[in-house]
Order: sequence, then structure tokens, then C-alpha cells
Amino acid sequence: MNVDYLRISVTDRCNLRCIYCRPLGGRDFIEHKEILRFEEIHRIVKLFVECGIKKVRLTGGEPLVRRNIVHLIRELAGIEGIEELALTTNGVLLEPVAAELKAAGLKQVNVSVDSAERESYKQITGFDFLSRVRRGIYKAIEVGLAPVKVNSVIIRGINDSQIPALAQMSIHLPVIVRFIEYCPTSKYTKPTSDYVASAEVREIIERKFGPLSDVLVGGTNGPALYFRIRNSAGSIGFISGRSSTFCQSCNRLRLTSDGKVKPCLYSAHNYDIKKLIRAGADDRQVRDFLKKILTQKSNFTKLNSPAEEFSMQNIGG
Ligand code: SAM
Repeated sequence: MNVDYLRISVTDRCNLRCIYCRPLGGRDFIEHKEILRFEEIHRIVKLFVECGIKKVRLTGGEPLVRRNIVHLIRELAGIEGIEELALTTNGVLLEPVAAELKAAGLKQVNVSVDSAERESYKQITGFDFLSRVRRGIYKAIEVGLAPVKVNSVIIRGINDSQIPALAQMSIHLPVIVRFIEYCPTSKYTKPTSDYVASAEVREIIERKFGPLSDVLVGGTNGPALYFRIRNSAGSIGFISGRSSTFCQSCNRLRLTSDGKVKPCLYSAHNYDIKKLIRAGADDRQVRDFLKKILTQKSNFTKLNSPAEEFSMQNIGG
């Protein structure tokens, strides 16, 4: 598999407290001086692009809470060789900055929404922000941050009743609603094991809306298979990190907010690039380090040194 996709967590801070990610009472924040600075992120991305990375996604924590994020996006968009620059956000702060993000060179957004109903959204995230998030999605569509993808993590007994309403968003809006299998991450998050497998989510959708048809969607990851409810404006996708193993087709590396490159979300293994650059390594030394990571990534599977627990907000999901 050609490894050409880098996800960057630009901050571990977030303005929501999702029960499955960073509930209230969870861990402390990483010290500011340990978080990668913009110029460090820019340098790492530029060198990664020279080594074959073509697609970059900013995530978090919540990337839109990082001050001057639009500036970072503009700087990254100027790096020759990046074919796709995208952002994953909870959408709370999206509406007022969507046009500016687009003008800065952002191509696409994913917006996390785990419920289409106000009370259960509040129960999951800790905040009454669903209408703000909806407005953010409409604005992203309007300014052309396309395709807008809606990410929903489904947890049994928490929001599985929301599956039809979430899927229904794809009927009226030109969005791709993607159902993600919940993955337990640490002792702070709950519940620990109640994920709903993609096959079951699909059955629930088909019971309500009839058989889904296949849709091929192009992109820098190659064509991805999505599904469509009859006569809908958008489509539906499934991310099955628990019920299937897709290591052979995994093309992504992750850069954590405190400067570690991770070959696999599920593994404790990482490469400390911040240590290298803060020790004064020149571009050739950093490039050699990145090439080594890219080579090792190709042989990596999630069974290599699995992490006992991990922090989604530091890694970026
Ligand atoms: N704040 C942004 C957001 O809400 O999308 C970006 C960070 S969030 C960590 C990135 C993605 O990770 C989101 O789609 C989120 O739903 C997903 N995620 C977080 N914790 C998860 C878990 N325990 N299992 C599965 N997905 C998870």
C-alpha cells in the first residue's frame, strides 16, 4: 500500500466532552510547550510531502479551537505537492469560519455529529450545540468544502436509536453520512465494549429506507465504496475498525499534537519527530527519519504492539 496520507492532531484541547472520547473528569491537557508549533508542523508536512505524502487532514482535539488555524491552513495549502487538504471538526465553530477556511485553501471537511436529536446530542457531548453544528454543515456545503462528510460514532444504548435519523440527513443534503464503529480507548471513556457493527447499522437503515445501492466515489485515497438510499442527494459509508481488519489497505500515518508519528491508531508504537527537530536535525536527517517510518509503516498491522489505552484527542481519531 502506498502511504500517502497524514493526519495531524493540531491540539489536544476540545470544546466538547464526548463520553466516548474525552468525558468530563478525564485526563489533563498536554503542556503548551510540548504541542507542536505551526512552523514545526509546516516543516514536518513539507518534508513528508517530499517523501510521498499527498493528502493532509487536520484534526484534534478540536482543530478550530487552535488560535490562528486559518493561518496554518493557508501555509500548508502553499506547499507544492499536497493534493488534498482537509479538516475533521465537531462543527461547533465552523459556521463563522467556513468561508475563510475555503479561501485559505482547505478543500474538504468532516463534521462529527453523533445524534440528530438535541437532548441525546447534549447527553453525548455535554453541550447544547446541535443547532450550531447544523448551521456549520449548511455553511460548509454552501461554500463548497466538498464533499462534506458527517461522522457518527454509534454506541449501543446511547445513540443506536439515532441511526435512521442520521442516515436520513443523506436524503436531503449532499453529504456522506459515515457510521463509525465505537472503539474503547481508556478507562475514562464509556462504555467499554458496546459498539454496533457496520453490518447491523446497515440492516437498521435498510429496514427503514429499503435496500442501499452502491456508489463509487473518487478521491485521493482511490475510489471508495459508499451506499445510497433511493433518490437521495448524498450517500452513506461505514468505517468498520472493530468488525474488520483493513491494515493491508491502510495508507495513513498520524502525527500527534505533541509531535509523535504513529504508524497505527491502535498501536503504542511511535516515532518522536519533535525530539529530532528540536535537537536541531537538518532537513536531510529529518527526511531520512521520515523515509524509515514510511518503509516500516508498509509492514505494520494493528497486531504489532497494540496499545492498552490511547487518547483520541491527542492522536486525532
Ligand atoms: N474534534 C474533532 C471531531 O469531533 O471530529 C476532531 C477530533 S475527533 C478525536 C476525530 C474523530 O475521532 C471523530 O470523528 C470522532 O467521532 C472519532 N472518535 C473519537 N473517539 C472515538 C472512539 N472512541 N471510537 C471511534 N471513533 C472515535
